[in-house]
Amino acid sequence: MTEGGCLCGALRYNCDEVAAVTALHCHCKDCQRVTGSGKATVVMFPESAVSIRGDYKTFSSLGTDGSHVNRGFCGNCGSQLFTFVDEIPGHVFIKAGTMDSSAWLTVDLTCWASSAPDWLTPDPAIPAVPQNPPTN
Ligand SMILES: [Zn+2]
Ligand SMILES: [Zn+2]
Repeated sequence: MTEGGCLCGALRYNCDEVAAVTALHCHCKDCQRVTGSGKATVVMFPESAVSIRGDYKTFSSLGTDGSHVNRGFCGNCGSQLFTFVDEIPGHVFIKAGTMDSSAWLTVDLTCWASSAPDWLTPDPAIPAVPQNPPTN
């Protein structure tokens, strides 16, 4: 079981790393804005494998493909932890950097490589797609 949480500690979670579906680097502009960096690294879990303790606020926006993206963050310290996408029901994406320990993690795919900044180019060792991952 992996524990994680926000910077101030008000929002905590645990997730079962065995249940992780996939892990992605995302260089989309929205992820760059919310992280303040060149990418977000997120791990997708079934919601049943994640337990959240504490309250979080949600900011909803439209993805470039029209998906409804709801980002959960701590209302006290502002840390971004969770993303729920209406079009991917029953799943939650957790930002890998909020995990207390993520040594078990391997990243499967780079998304939105087309908008990666020149100062944070995608890792050539990881498969990449120019925009969203294919859905099927
Ligand atoms: Zn916090
Ligand atoms: Zn993104």
